[in-house]
Amino acid sequence: MTARHVVIIGNGPAANEAAISLRTQAPDARITIISKEPIRYYKPHLLPDLIAGKVSEQDLYVNPLEFYKENDIRLRLGQEVVHVSFATNEVVMEHKEVVRFDGLIIATGGKPRIPEPLQVFEDLMLSLKTLSDAKVWKERLRWVDSVLIVGGDLTSLSFTKAVLSLGKKVYFILHGDSFWPVRFNEELSSEVSQRLSDRGVEVISCRKILRLVMASEDSVEVETDGRKLRVGAIGAFFGLVPDVKFLARSGLAIERGIVVDEFLRTRFEGVYAAGDCAQVYHPKLRDYWVSIGYRNARNLGRVAALNLLGGQESAETAPAGIFQLDDISVNTSWWTEF
Ligand SMILES: Cc1cc2nc3c(=O)[nH]c(=O)nc-3n(C[C@H](O)[C@H](O)[C@H](O)COP(=O)(O)OP(=O)(O)OC[C@H]3O[C@@H](n4cnc5c(N)ncnc54)[C@H](O)[C@@H]3O)c2cc1C
Repeated sequence: MTARHVVIIGNGPAANEAAISLRTQAPDARITIISKEPIRYYKPHLLPDLIAGKVSEQDLYVNPLEFYKENDIRLRLGQEVVHVSFATNEVVMEHKEVVRFDGLIIATGGKPRIPEPLQVFEDLMLSLKTLSDAKVWKERLRWVDSVLIVGGDLTSLSFTKAVLSLGKKVYFILHGDSFWPVRFNEELSSEVSQRLSDRGVEVISCRKILRLVMASEDSVEVETDGRKLRVGAIGAFFGLVPDVKFLARSGLAIERGIVVDEFLRTRFEGVYAAGDCAQVYHPKLRDYWVSIGYRNARNLGRVAALNLLGGQESAETAPAGIFQLDDISVNTSWWTEF
């Protein structure tokens, strides 16, 4: 395909790697990155370090704005895509503007998930996905002495480290329904509990959170099936689900993520998905896998760009690196030692 105008939805590692690969391989292509976040590309994996005060906001950013100008990549920040039409090859923005594309790479990543039984308490829980979430946490942690973490995904562990390093008390409710990239069985649960306890975290064993109530401006009362406590803030860490709701009526095949073949092609010509939002076919496994992690995302972004330009590179990953998590095969380039 001769790429004329390639639109990339997203501005994370998958999107940026795609844009750079496109520019290198197709010097004449018109490239546009559209992102709902109003800020330039940053490293999400450094957010816990930002909260801990180990790095500054400037340390998070990857490329200066001039980089995009020099490489003739148009950055449209703070603009959300709400619909894509594959009949007319158009992306529709929240502010009603329509942008035409000849090629499209969807790299919208994931968004925090809260299991259904806890959704009634959603307003009282904070998550950690974006820089703006991290700033909310940073501000909250200035005023509170304790945090309750509910969940148990990878982010929860690096976040716990950050909170402990600030000298705050951490309570933890390990929840079986977290998106841990291995099966969350009893053995693993007790191993993680032990490691958390060794570091001074108070692990609360409970089957159900019965009540969360705002007790004062900076404290929340928590009642579980065996315990009552008051904490300064509550974090929900149940992993991420692909941020693809806006594509629900687009005609794309969507299951756990956007369904693509091993070349990251969707069912529409010239349309690819990469990074955490993709569900990728693995020819050897004859099954699909979803990706987690910064390195995986960059690799998938690069492969999507090359194939959009006519390449035939497979995104296949080593079968040994794939975990089964309930019915989902997961590959992660990310493991946190706690
Ligand atoms: C706190 C935290 C710690 C992490 N730590 C690690 C780690 O230590 N190691 C590691 O490998 N991985 C880590 N990860 C995971 C890693 O950051 C992700 O796997 C990676 O960022 C996924 O890249 P992506 O490009 O697929 O999506 P994302 O980085 O999620 O980027 C998605 C982009 O799409 C944009 N977007 C979404 N929907 C729309 C829309 N409708 N319209 C316009 N724009 C849209 C978003 O604004 C964003 O720019 C961490 C993640 C978090 C949140």
